[in-house]
Amino acid sequence: MIPRTLFDSDHEAFRDVVKKFLEQEAVPYHEQWEKDGQIDRNLWKKAGELGMLCPTMPEEYGGTGCDFRYSAIVIEEIANSGCSGIGFPLHSDIVAPYILHYGSEELKQKYIPKLISGEMVGAIAMTEPGAGSDLQGVKTTAIDKGDHYLLNGSKTFITNGQLADVVIVVAKTDPAEGAKGTSLLVVEANSDGFEKGQNLDKVGMKAQDTSELFFQDVKVPKENLLGGEGQGFFYLMQELPQERLLVGLTAVAAAETAIKWTKEYVKERKAFGKPVMTFQNTRFKLAELTADTLAGRCFLDRCLELHLEGKLDVPTAAALKQWTTDLQCKVMDECMQLFGGYGYMWEYPIARAWADSRVQKIYAGTNEIMKEIVARSL
Ligand SMILES: Cc1cc2nc3c(=O)[nH]c(=O)nc-3n(C[C@H](O)[C@H](O)[C@H](O)COP(=O)(O)OP(=O)(O)OC[C@H]3O[C@@H](n4cnc5c(N)ncnc54)[C@H](O)[C@@H]3O)c2cc1C
Repeated sequence: MIPRTLFDSDHEAFRDVVKKFLEQEAVPYHEQWEKDGQIDRNLWKKAGELGMLCPTMPEEYGGTGCDFRYSAIVIEEIANSGCSGIGFPLHSDIVAPYILHYGSEELKQKYIPKLISGEMVGAIAMTEPGAGSDLQGVKTTAIDKGDHYLLNGSKTFITNGQLADVVIVVAKTDPAEGAKGTSLLVVEANSDGFEKGQNLDKVGMKAQDTSELFFQDVKVPKENLLGGEGQGFFYLMQELPQERLLVGLTAVAAAETAIKWTKEYVKERKAFGKPVMTFQNTRFKLAELTADTLAGRCFLDRCLELHLEGKLDVPTAAALKQWTTDLQCKVMDECMQLFGGYGYMWEYPIARAWADSRVQKIYAGTNEIMKEIVARSL
C-alpha cells in the first residue's frame, strides 16, 4: 500500500532473476531437502554463477561490488519463497564481510573468490553448549604455539554446519580474559581434528543444516587470525547490526507473504455457506496484520536506508530485530489460525512458515538481549 522507494529498475531486474531462480531451482526440491536435513550443495554453485552469493564483495576478489540492496533482495526473495533451508544470507552477508573487513590480503584472496562462486560454503561458530547469549563465557581455546594456534572446544547450533568448508570460529586466545581474550579465526573444515557432529533436529527450518562442531587439537595457521588478537569481541559488535538487519529483512518479507497466502485462502474457503473472508473477525484480523506489517516495512526500509549510508547503529538494529521478529511470529500465528486445521498441516506453507518463524526471536541474539541493548542506550 505504501510504495517502496529504495530500489531502482536494476534492483528490480535482479529481483526477478532471484525469484525465478528460486522458483525453478529451490521450491520444487525443498520438501526433499527438509527430509535430507540440508539443501543440495549444487544450489550454492548455481547461485554463485548468477551472482547471487556475496553480491557486495568487491570486484578485485571476483565479486560484483554491488550495494547492500542486492543482498537485501536475495534475503527477501528467499523469505518469500519459503525455502528456509537456504543459508546464503549468513554466508554472503556475515561470513564474507568478516573476512573482507578484518582478514589479511592473503586471506581475502584465498577465501572470498570461493565464497562468491559457491565453491566454498561459509559458517560462523560463536555459540557453544554452555555459552550463547553470554559470549564472554566461550570455552573454546586457541593457544599460541609459535607458527599456529591449537584450537580445542566445541560449538553448537551452527547454521550451514554440515555443508561448511570454512568456518569463522570465536575462541579465547587468552582464556584468563573475557571479551579482551576473544579472537576470530578462519578454520577450514578439512583440518585434522575438526569434526562435524549432529545435524540437529529442529522444530522448523528443517532443510537448514544447523549443526554441532568439534575441535580437537586443530592446528590453525597464525595467518588465519582475523585482525588483531583479543579484538574478536570488538569485531563482533561492529558486524552485528548487519546481522540483525538480515533477520529483520526476513521477518517482514515472511510476514507479508503469510498475509498474501492467507488472503488467498480465506477468499476460497467456505464456512456456514460463505467465504471465511466475509466474517468480520477475518477482515479485521487481516486489516490489523496489514497495518502492523506496513509499520514494520517502513521501520525496516528506513533502517536499510540508514545502513546503506553507514549509519545504522547498534541499538536501532537491535530494536529492529526484536520488533520485526515479534511481528513475524504474531502474523504467523494469526494467519495459521485463519487457515483452521489445514494451517497446522506440514503440507501447507503457512505451517512451515509458522514453525520457521519461531527461531527468529532466538538467534542473532535473543529478543531479551535486544531489549537489553536498547535499554542500555536509553
Ligand atoms: C536454528 C538456529 C541457528 C543458529 N545459528 C547460529 C550460528 O550460525 N552461529 C552461532 O554462533 N549461533 C547460532 N545459533 C545460536 C543462537 O545465536 C543462540 O541460541 C542464542 O544466541 C541464544 O543462546 P542460548 O541458546 O545459549 O540461550 P541462553 O543464552 O542460554 O538463553 C536462555 C534464555 O535466557 C535469556 N537470557 C540470557 N541472558 C539474558 C539476560 N542478560 N537478560 C535477560 N534474559 C537473558 C535468553 O533471552 C533466553 O530466553 C543458532 C541457533 C538456532 C536455534
